[in-house]
Amino acid sequence: MNSNKLNVYIFNLLLLLFPALLIANDLNDMLLEAEEIKSNNPVKFSSLLETLNTKLNSLSKQQANHLKYLNAYEIAFAGDTTKAIAILKDIINSDATQLIKYRSRLSIINFHGYDRNWADGLSNLKVLLEELPKINNEQYQKDGLALAAMFYNQIGQYSLGLTYANQLENQTKDARQNCLAKMFKFESIFYTTDLKVNPIEINSAIKACNSEPIAANLLRTYVAEMHIEDEQFESANTLLLKHVHEVESAKYVRLIVRFYSLIAETYFKQSDFERSSLYSKKTIEKAINIPTTQGVINAYKFLYQIAKEQKDFPTSLLAHEKYSQLNQLHTDEITAKHFAYQLAEHKSLEQQSKISLLNEKNTLLETKQALSKAEVANTRLIVMVLIISLLLFTFWGGRLYKAHKRIKELAEFDALTGIFNRGHFTHVATSALSYCKSAKQDLSVIMFDLDHFKSINDMYGHATGDWALKETIKVCQNVGRKNDVFARLGGEEFCILLPSCHIRSAALVAEHCRSAIEDIVTEASGHDFKITASFGITDAKTSGFELEKLLADADEAAYDSKKSGRNRITVFTINEEPEQKQLDNSWSIS
Ligand code: GH3
Ligand code: MG
Ligand code: MG
Repeated sequence: MNSNKLNVYIFNLLLLLFPALLIANDLNDMLLEAEEIKSNNPVKFSSLLETLNTKLNSLSKQQANHLKYLNAYEIAFAGDTTKAIAILKDIINSDATQLIKYRSRLSIINFHGYDRNWADGLSNLKVLLEELPKINNEQYQKDGLALAAMFYNQIGQYSLGLTYANQLENQTKDARQNCLAKMFKFESIFYTTDLKVNPIEINSAIKACNSEPIAANLLRTYVAEMHIEDEQFESANTLLLKHVHEVESAKYVRLIVRFYSLIAETYFKQSDFERSSLYSKKTIEKAINIPTTQGVINAYKFLYQIAKEQKDFPTSLLAHEKYSQLNQLHTDEITAKHFAYQLAEHKSLEQQSKISLLNEKNTLLETKQALSKAEVANTRLIVMVLIISLLLFTFWGGRLYKAHKRIKELAEFDALTGIFNRGHFTHVATSALSYCKSAKQDLSVIMFDLDHFKSINDMYGHATGDWALKETIKVCQNVGRKNDVFARLGGEEFCILLPSCHIRSAALVAEHCRSAIEDIVTEASGHDFKITASFGITDAKTSGFELEKLLADADEAAYDSKKSGRNRITVFTINEEPEQKQLDNSWSIS
């Protein structure tokens, strides 16, 4: 009997003796196969999972976790990302291996991306990036880098996107990943205002992506946009038309929409309105499920301009309405992404201070273990001392953490009303202003001051005054939007900063706020009196993007509301002649 035959013989004998081995082996192969085909053969993937789920009892713990992961994957692709995320979180909180936990988090971020849940996606991404260096599997490590580049680009944090795209490009030798890295890299560069795309480099990136039609054509759209910027409309048009069929057959809707809308733009810029209109309509039709994309907004813009040019005013008006409605939604989404990023940054800072406290506790515990091993006569005594100091440390550490949190709160929030104080407001407002300035977005500021507040204090006491301040905040908080920044600037003076908000909408917010204050029922305070406030409003278009100037102008308008009788709102307008100030009181209701 030669050695091969002997091996087969022994193997068969083993299987005869231990049939469980056959099952285990089979199941492992099935899991691996399911893993391999999960994204390209959904039918077979489903049937494999179905079989595996009936054999759950024969799986090892880690195999069961792997199956759970694949089940979540299938559930997400059937559309229930919420359920899938819950299952994946369960894996992360279990005793599964580090790799499957890491992969679960990778998928969670991906699914949050589909759901446009930027805040939760970002907080998970932060954890993933901390875990990434500990992952031994190179492939999954690179998947993590690619995901980071994509996610940061998606939320408009292009310089972070660029960092991870560069890391991926430097680490990978694989042609597909190299192309992917280049695609993210040029996306970041293209949308970062102070960086310029190098035409030679982007062309070589397109070559590197020659077997990845989606990536290559996405890169081509940047080339086309550069041509458009240089007013070389025909070159852009020729490039896009040459590849449009390839793009259509790749069936990636976002890319098709991008191509159609750019083609519409090249025709529009060359005054070929008929073709521009045709491609604008194709854009809208294709983007039925993704209406707030820039391409669709542009398409409506071309349609209303073309209709206007052709004196078809009803059509023009309809297209314009659609354009401004989608544009507003798009703007809101950009603002939401920006705030999600800020929120995630904030949360991670808080997390870091908790972690450093835990680390210190761990160091103490480690010391305690090392010492307990030493065979010295006074071990017991030392351990006792250490336990006492650990207790003390935990006690003081806890107090320190609470004190730190409290100081932070005091530094950020007003103690009486719970809204931002002046210092923190300045910080957040400066960031919102620089964002709105660079994104060319509107921004409005509302300031208000309670009327004759001193008399309320004088007549009913300071406690009633405090009560009135808190009630005022309560009613005004119900009026604003989620992204508005509400702060107490001092005394009975408040400010609301409204990013991406037109002054007309800001005036409506102010009016709602004014009438809500006027309607406050004061019986609960034990006294019957009226609360009113005088408002001043301005926006960045009128006052610029400097916080100090915006506040000064809003304050001036509020002062004018006071002068003209209080309990009213005034929109600030620029004074043409210095001695005769023009203030618009037309928003005043009372
Ligand atoms: P005007 O309509 O011109 O604004 O009159 P006013 O009385 O509201 O204005 P003034 O600035 O003279 O008075 C503001 C008062 O607000 C004086 C101060 O005692 C009171 N105040 C400031 N902060 C607080 C606070 O936290 N609680 C209470 N109860 N009163 C406060
Ligand atoms: Mg006052
Ligand atoms: Mg005042």
